[in-house]
Amino acid sequence: MNKPWQDKLRKITPYVPGEQSKDPDIVKLNANENPYPPSPRVQQALRAFHADGLRLYPDANATQLRTALARHFGLAADQVFLGNGSDDVLALCFQAFFCADKPIFFPDLTYSFYPVWCSLFHIPYRTIPLDDQFRIRPDDYAPANGGVVLPNPNAPTGIGEGLDFVRRLLDNNPDAIVIVDEAYIDFGGTSALPLLDEYENLVIVQTMSKSRSLAGLRVGFALASPALIAVLEAVKNSYNSYTMDSVTLAAATASVEDDAYFRQTCAQVVRTREQTARALQALGFTVLPSLTNFLLVTHPAAPAQALFDALRARKIFVRYFHLPRIDNHLRITIGTDEEMDRLLAALRDILAN
Ligand SMILES: *Cc1c(COP(=O)(O)O)cnc(C)c1O
Repeated sequence: MNKPWQDKLRKITPYVPGEQSKDPDIVKLNANENPYPPSPRVQQALRAFHADGLRLYPDANATQLRTALARHFGLAADQVFLGNGSDDVLALCFQAFFCADKPIFFPDLTYSFYPVWCSLFHIPYRTIPLDDQFRIRPDDYAPANGGVVLPNPNAPTGIGEGLDFVRRLLDNNPDAIVIVDEAYIDFGGTSALPLLDEYENLVIVQTMSKSRSLAGLRVGFALASPALIAVLEAVKNSYNSYTMDSVTLAAATASVEDDAYFRQTCAQVVRTREQTARALQALGFTVLPSLTNFLLVTHPAAPAQALFDALRARKIFVRYFHLPRIDNHLRITIGTDEEMDRLLAALRDILAN
């Protein structure tokens, strides 16, 4: 028998992130984390941080980090909004920008957090299938809608589109907010940044979790017109003024100030990705073209679920999605060259048996 108060509780199915593990021997290629440490300047900033400062509330406007990011992107500080990971920023964007009665549109294969926020915030939505090459068709997003959100490059396909694609999407949607989730943009994609001046309804969301090796710190940000940033600030300040803590602000600013290290580690991930893609193809895999730090792959002779289990038994974690269209694919995060060698050796071994 249900207790009366149980009927008053929120019932919701949450997003499930990739499995975490403490075993140091595991090759962890399941959550699109960066295999390299963050910039050494992050470590320096943490060492120099004085705990006395924690007595005080942090700067609610995160001025220092905002200014550093604005400088990095050639924007004004009032075009930057910060949050506790891009998941926090995206959740706030959904609340701030998707208030129409019409459904918002996003692709049918995409980041599986979008439908969860829709359900949490009671936002109607419609999913639009990718084409048979796993690509997003911008003209599918032309009918009247309550807003558009999509990752570019898309996840979990890894496929990235150019500036013409985003422009087409924006030209199709002059009356709605278009959010481009650029979580993977630094691994070779084309950012919509040059379109910000032209389109006041464009919101770009990025994260420090992947390309800046700071998944554990939780920093994400939105870049948009000052009018939209002001709305995000108002919504954030209506539920928690201090999403960014002082330690995070100091460490993240140090990362942004080390551009050389950032470029170098991203370039290394891209090199390893291209090598790994060729090696997987040589093993008979079909590899989707990726502009991210992961590959979505399938093998004509070896079922993905069986490969997933066999890899797991060898302490190599990849991601398997039990979803229509990709339930015979694996998503493999790009690790170090050594980690990819271990993956490839394991796959050779598994496929030979
Ligand atoms: C990883 C990811 C995010 C969120 O990352 P945070 O760690 O919350 O910044 C957002 N969108 C996509 C498509 C992602 O893959």
